[in-house]
Parts: sequence; C-alpha cells; structure tokens
Amino acid sequence: MSLCIRCGSPLSYNEIGAHKKFINRGSRQFFCKDCLAWKLGVTVQEIDRKIEEFKQQGCTLFV
Ligand SMILES: [Zn+2]
Repeated sequence: MSLCIRCGSPLSYNEIGAHKKFINRGSRQFFCKDCLAWKLGVTVQEIDRKIEEFKQQGCTLFV
C-alpha cells in the first residue's frame, strides 16, 4: 500500500492515477487527493470532477 509523501495517508488507486495524470506519469511517489489539491492550488472537488471526466474518456489510471 502506497502512502502520501506529504501527509502519510493511504492512497487509493484513483489518487495514484490522479497524481500520475496531474503531476508526472513516471512518478513513483504520490500525493493523496488533499495534498494534490494543495499542490495544484485547486479544490478536491475539482480533482474529483477531473477524475470523472478522465474515467468517461476511458482512462485506465482510474476505476
Ligand atoms: Zn496527503
């Protein structure tokens, strides 16, 4: 189980996918959704909305 490199929270599959999508596809360390929102200067809701969009496009980084 991967942990967020900033806050130590356990990461879901979609959180890892979001990090790859928004930060760097080749990353081996990841932010949770909260820390990703902090890093990107957006809200968690905006990240959720983006994840939904990517899912609908058939992106395999998300379930
Ligand atoms: Zn975190």
